[in-house]
Amino acid sequence: MDTVWTPGQTRRMEIFDTVNPATSEVIATFGVHGQAEIDAAVERARDAAAWWSGLGWKDRRTRLLAWKSHLIRYIGRLAELVHTETGKPLADAQLEIFLAIVHLDWAARNARRVLGPRRVRSGLPAINLAASVEYAPFGVVGVIGPWNYPVFTPMGSLAYALAAGNAVVFKPSEHAPAVGGWLVSSFAEVVPEHPVLQLVTGAGQTGVALARSAVDKISFTGSAMTARKVMAACAGNLTPLIAECGGKDAFLVGADADLDAAADAAAWGAVSNAGQTCIGVERVYVVDDVYHTFLEKLAERMSRARAGDDRESAYGPMTRPAQIDVVEDHIADALARGGRAVLGGMQSIRRPYVDPVILADVPETSLAIQEETFGPTLTVTRVADLDEGIRLANASRYALGSTVFVRDKKRAMAAARALQSGMTAINSVIGFATVPALPFGGIGDSGFGRIHGADGLREFARAKAITRVRMRSPLNLTTLSRTDKDLTRLLSAATLLHGKRYR
Ligand code: NAD
Repeated sequence: MDTVWTPGQTRRMEIFDTVNPATSEVIATFGVHGQAEIDAAVERARDAAAWWSGLGWKDRRTRLLAWKSHLIRYIGRLAELVHTETGKPLADAQLEIFLAIVHLDWAARNARRVLGPRRVRSGLPAINLAASVEYAPFGVVGVIGPWNYPVFTPMGSLAYALAAGNAVVFKPSEHAPAVGGWLVSSFAEVVPEHPVLQLVTGAGQTGVALARSAVDKISFTGSAMTARKVMAACAGNLTPLIAECGGKDAFLVGADADLDAAADAAAWGAVSNAGQTCIGVERVYVVDDVYHTFLEKLAERMSRARAGDDRESAYGPMTRPAQIDVVEDHIADALARGGRAVLGGMQSIRRPYVDPVILADVPETSLAIQEETFGPTLTVTRVADLDEGIRLANASRYALGSTVFVRDKKRAMAAARALQSGMTAINSVIGFATVPALPFGGIGDSGFGRIHGADGLREFARAKAITRVRMRSPLNLTTLSRTDKDLTRLLSAATLLHGKRYR
């Protein structure tokens, strides 16, 4: 990182470049924001939050829908930028933006219904009280994003946090700051009055500064290792945290599966976005009866996919050179432990590209099964039955998404329930991410908390409980003038209500 001096700045600020991963050309240069700049942004956001939450549900909804409309009208420009900064094909960038818009639309339209005041039953002992719950915004939310889906992933926090009435200070990944900057500028087009959504840029230290600042909540997306550091930084102020971390998603193929559809889904799930997808398919478990047929179909499909930067390429370069080292290590380790490359192998690595790789007979202890690979590779493992597949799938410290290809609805649902993961798609891949009403998040090293859906909205708001006396209480309990008679009356009522024998 270089250093520059910009007039009006109070200190010499380091800068960093964002580059096109396919050509290594510099796209733009950004400042490295430190604690002072972050604290100032959070302070500005505090005032903006008061204004934004004061706008009310209806006006916020209108502004967010206007933002959505802006994004779809300029999808071409944004997709071009995503393509340039991450290397993913233009069409994939468009698909990502489209899905982000679906979520923005849902959050805008449903915030009031989910978070607005709602009466609840007060129950017999509190029959004299009217009871209600409502959800107030936290105030200022810090969003720390990754680079692999620089629009869709942060939108899962931005849209829901904003719809709940918060202001947001957004630190995109240092590998995708231009896309982050574009999102923030486009929001300012529809909300020009106050800095309700602000951009701060930099790498890990900027993230630490944001987690240590006076924000009221952090929504972090990235690796489990970084999540631990973010959590430590949040501990100082007891700042609550959502951690959306990596995955090692399993894909089960049952004996009755539609094998063409399964092979198609596994191939796409493994290689799209060069495998740099938190819910990408990384491990496939196939029951014995259909193992060979499935593997053949999968290899046939994946062999047709090629990495490159032209229109014929199925996917682009790896966005970060360091990730290629991880992919290389995982392939080498799998082969060294007796695994077999059914398609590709070490020769598939052509920096910055990695062609599809299928590894079979890989021991469960190997890196390619245990760790997130985040590349266009997958392991295929033969299992005796679905139960063994479920057991192996669940033997991971990651548990984000999963897939089941089983035709029988009852067995498919049972398998989905038995799989330890935040989300499961049956007979399609990543279906759950496309339904905005569904919560999204992990278990174990895949993180905690949920984005998307009603649960996602509630993550960005504090539940507020209110009771109001609507008549005199028949029970005289919360007073110093309570008598023994009052208590006897309570215990008689309690015995009537709760004292029956349950079998
Ligand atoms: P990363 O953990 O390296 O970085 C994520 C973000 O954290 C970046 O903005 C980075 O600058 C910041 N950061 C780094 N160190 C920090 C620190 N000490 N304190 C605060 N912030 C810090 O992850 P990445 O390489 O950008 O993204 C890839 C990872 O993200 C993969 O593991 C992937 O599976 C995961 N991911 C998860 C989801 C999900 O929704 N669960 C979605 C996309 C990506």
